[in-house]
Amino acid sequence: MDKVELSPRDKLLQLHDLTPAENRELVEKLENALQSAGQEFSLDYLQAGEINIGNKMIRFSFMLSGERENKNWQEYLSEDLAESIVRSLERIKKSSNDELFVDEIVVTDVNFANPRSGKPVNGVTLTNMENTSQNSIVLFVNALSDTNYRGEIPGVSHLEGTVTHEYGHCLDNASGADLRKMWVERLPWQYDEESDTFSYNGEQQDFVTTYAGVSPTEDLAESYAIYLLDKERLARVSQKRKAFFEALLGS
Ligand SMILES: [Zn+2]
Repeated sequence: MDKVELSPRDKLLQLHDLTPAENRELVEKLENALQSAGQEFSLDYLQAGEINIGNKMIRFSFMLSGERENKNWQEYLSEDLAESIVRSLERIKKSSNDELFVDEIVVTDVNFANPRSGKPVNGVTLTNMENTSQNSIVLFVNALSDTNYRGEIPGVSHLEGTVTHEYGHCLDNASGADLRKMWVERLPWQYDEESDTFSYNGEQQDFVTTYAGVSPTEDLAESYAIYLLDKERLARVSQKRKAFFEALLGS
């Protein structure tokens, strides 16, 4: 039987109104993470359904603060932005030679600021510690802004950049952190035991964005995003990084 490939917009039509999620585990994980960063939130965990990417069903959920009367998910996320999320996932699927290591996309109305830098955070990936190939990508309000991606790639929205960056963390988690170990081995990242931090002994120009210089894991996720979104650009910035993903993804 021929399988008809649905457009991102058609896939969104399969979603339903928001219904409370049965399992509170993930929302508690997020609340705890936010609390440990000094920000207290009490969130409603609501499901809008599932979206198929290839043969994988990915849950589409919302974590909303405060009283919510409207159960229509489009009240909290425009269809254009939702389509942008689906497009990102389809691009990721196309480049992955194996399964997808993301189970859920969560959209929040939380404005979360990094406690150290004070800057708004775009997203976070929550992994299931018993099975690290199960990951949930949580998108904060800042990810939904109407600007260009910080990588400044023509035609790529900030949201697409964010989803793709977060998927870089999913890949790393699914490898049981083997990926970041290989990354640190191949690139001039140096671990300092005393301070439990990494420093970079190469050139700042090796980084595809300023944010990539924060840590090896952010460098990995950021480079993965640029590899998927603008391979030529990653090649210009760092041949080593491009070669790493070429070997990994075989494309
Ligand atoms: Zn990141």
